[in-house]
Amino acid sequence: MFDLTGKNALVTGSSRGIGRGISLLLAKQGANVAVNSVSNYEKLSQAAEEIRKMGRQSLSLQADVSKKDQVQKMFSDIKNKWGRLDILVNNAGVIDYASFDEITEENWDRVLDINLKGQFLCAQEGVKIMRENKWGRIINIASISSGGVGIGFKNISHYTASKGGVVALTENMAIELARDGINVNAIAPGAIESDMSLAVQKDPKLLEATISQIPKGRMGKPEDIGAACVFLASNEADYITGTVLYVDGGWLAG
Ligand code: NAP
Repeated sequence: MFDLTGKNALVTGSSRGIGRGISLLLAKQGANVAVNSVSNYEKLSQAAEEIRKMGRQSLSLQADVSKKDQVQKMFSDIKNKWGRLDILVNNAGVIDYASFDEITEENWDRVLDINLKGQFLCAQEGVKIMRENKWGRIINIASISSGGVGIGFKNISHYTASKGGVVALTENMAIELARDGINVNAIAPGAIESDMSLAVQKDPKLLEATISQIPKGRMGKPEDIGAACVFLASNEADYITGTVLYVDGGWLAG
């Protein structure tokens, strides 16, 4: 079960953090994995090298997911080198902290462009390739900070709006693409150890307050999200589309 041998995957934002963790788990299960980031080419190459050491193929693709021309080039590189794409994990994302009154138009646009428009642009290009084989898996990384879940976080209205948009986009894509054999789901992580959550990890009081909200008593690790991706990417998850899988150590239930 959950064998991904022979599948080709792209994980955006995979030079580090959650995206890197997802890439390594997909590769462990047999997939070839193209990795992507915007600026950190050295770390991106290291991630690709780790995948190759596992006996899989990898491509290092530098592209800003919020820029249509760069996204189109990234997908045409995959099509030219591999011919097909089976799994797309839309993971690239940024966070920005500011009170509602202080969010600038520039910061609003940056967060929405990378976190939401980026997933739309990548999915639109990915679907063109997946449709040819009548099989695909698109996994959009959302967040427990996406609205409508009973808890909220201050000073990240733009981030929360972008992730709420990801959930909505996921549902609409799922119903439009189901008959093409393409399943679209979202994973909503809780607090996961990565550069994005460094402020929490480094502040003992904030860390304690965060962990006190999490029934499992720890922050999540990139591999926790990677395992959920492996499941949703597998043949076994064939009847699952249009859902949000919360991977939060029980935070929302607590
Ligand atoms: P991270 O450690 O900050 O890593 C972000 C990744 O995204 C990096 O690889 C970065 O590339 C890439 N990236 C940023 N902007 C990009 C762009 N315009 N185009 C392409 N790649 C870009 O973040 P993370 O914690 O792993 O987060 C991954 C995803 O999980 C995000 O969508 C985030 O919102 C979501 N999430 C995280 C948490 C958490 O607690 N960490 C919780 C819920 C949801 P460079 O190295 O080139 O900068």
